[in-house]
Amino acid sequence: MPTPAIEKLLVLQDRDQQRLALEAQLKAVPRDIAGVEQKIAAEKAAIETTRDELKELEVKKKAIENEVGATEDRLAKYKSQQLQVRKNDEYQALGHEIEVTQAQIGALEEEELKVMYAIDEAKRKFTAAGEELKQNIASHESRIHTLREREANLQSELQAAQEAVAGARSLLDEPALRLYDRLAAQPGLPVVVPIHEGKCGGCHLKISFNIDSETRKPDKLVTCDQCTRIVYWEA
Ligand SMILES: [Zn+2]
Repeated sequence: MPTPAIEKLLVLQDRDQQRLALEAQLKAVPRDIAGVEQKIAAEKAAIETTRDELKELEVKKKAIENEVGATEDRLAKYKSQQLQVRKNDEYQALGHEIEVTQAQIGALEEEELKVMYAIDEAKRKFTAAGEELKQNIASHESRIHTLREREANLQSELQAAQEAVAGARSLLDEPALRLYDRLAAQPGLPVVVPIHEGKCGGCHLKISFNIDSETRKPDKLVTCDQCTRIVYWEA
């Protein structure tokens, strides 16, 4: 049977481990929240890209429209010049210019049509992405809300765990606490370990005959000569 001193140390160790687990969980929450916030930012950036694409296409359409206008003006000018020329070769040259210009207008109008289709497609994409973004952001925000609730719960659990640790500490004497705290800092919990088949439960090395006999004395804290943890017999 573990001695009463060991039993008190085991209670303290158990509560300390619970406290440490809660502290670790609590520490992870802000990181999780930051991760979700990053996702929101990335999705917002993605929809900005779609918006930029749409803007670019609209600028392109406007440029084509201007070019069509300018080319049509040029066509009208050639046509009116053609009405005024007297010489046949000049008339023919202008006729050629008119044909070329008309072909240019045709090509521009075809390009404009393509851009208009692309604008329709981009608008559809933008609307769909907007809907998706709204849904995603709502779900991300509810996740953040859950995380904040979790953080608050963990904080009150941690407070209870800290009180439980203080309660366990109040039952131990100063030398035992000093030894426990030193070991808890290095090598770290667990620092009160049972002996199994003659081996230390911490470092799993065989304990010496001397340690073995020391641990059989009541109310004496014995440490493993290999890893310095407090060792005890379970039965
Ligand atoms: Zn050991």
